Amino acid sequence: MNKPFELEPFETTLADKVAAVSQLLAEIARNHAPAAFANSLGAEDMVLTDLILRQGLAIEIFSLDTGRLPQETYTLMQDVQQHYGLKLRLYYPRHDLIEAYTRDHGINAFFESIELRRACCHARKVEPLARALAGKRAWITGLRAEQSATREALPRREFDEANGLEKFNPLADWSEREVWAYLRNHDVPYNALHDQHYPSIGCAPCTRAITVGEDLRAGRWWWENPDTKECGLHRIPVVVSAEVSESVADVNTQSSGRSQNEDTL
Ligand code: SF4
Repeated sequence: MNKPFELEPFETTLADKVAAVSQLLAEIARNHAPAAFANSLGAEDMVLTDLILRQGLAIEIFSLDTGRLPQETYTLMQDVQQHYGLKLRLYYPRHDLIEAYTRDHGINAFFESIELRRACCHARKVEPLARALAGKRAWITGLRAEQSATREALPRREFDEANGLEKFNPLADWSEREVWAYLRNHDVPYNALHDQHYPSIGCAPCTRAITVGEDLRAGRWWWENPDTKECGLHRIPVVVSAEVSESVADVNTQSSGRSQNEDTL
């Protein structure tokens, strides 16, 4: 008689976590519609993409195309379309904000100061995110507590008061190992830069590979002091040009005072 297959402790934990996240996503789709998943196309977000699409859940999946993404990220968008038959909904920056920013400060001004970097993130990420979340009752992110010290207390569910909607971080308690075990086990497409020591991928000019011993997010805005780096859980004051300032006011009016999370995705 064959012995029953027994899962190793790690696999049991991962199986349990996958079941819990699947259940949570189904509950979000059922009880918090319309809900949206802000897909950064990072490894964690590909886990959530796979789980949402496998279950056929009514959760909108969107990404922000900042206009400065690495080619590998665009390749992944195409891979996602081929693998799942999903045409990602993409939100783009407002051309008037980008034109104002580059006219006033230059094409790569984000290297010059924290303020200009945050202003760029605002025009290319935060403002489009606010439009993407308008009218939604809940949104989902792929954030994990383990990613950095600032995310240690990350809850799986919170009320995003600034945005006025529920926010879910289903992978908050997942380890990096579990993320990659899921991706490998389910043959999920992922960004080729992950195989080149880019654990966290954002815009091309603001992301570099990390070396052994560095924080997972050390490659993001690497020229800035770690103490000044802000993550998606922090609100950041951003005002540089009049156009950007006006857009902030517009967005805040339309979205009940959305926070300016410069690294939400
Ligand atoms: S990550 Fe860099 S290029 Fe992308 S929006 Fe922020 S400052 Fe601009």
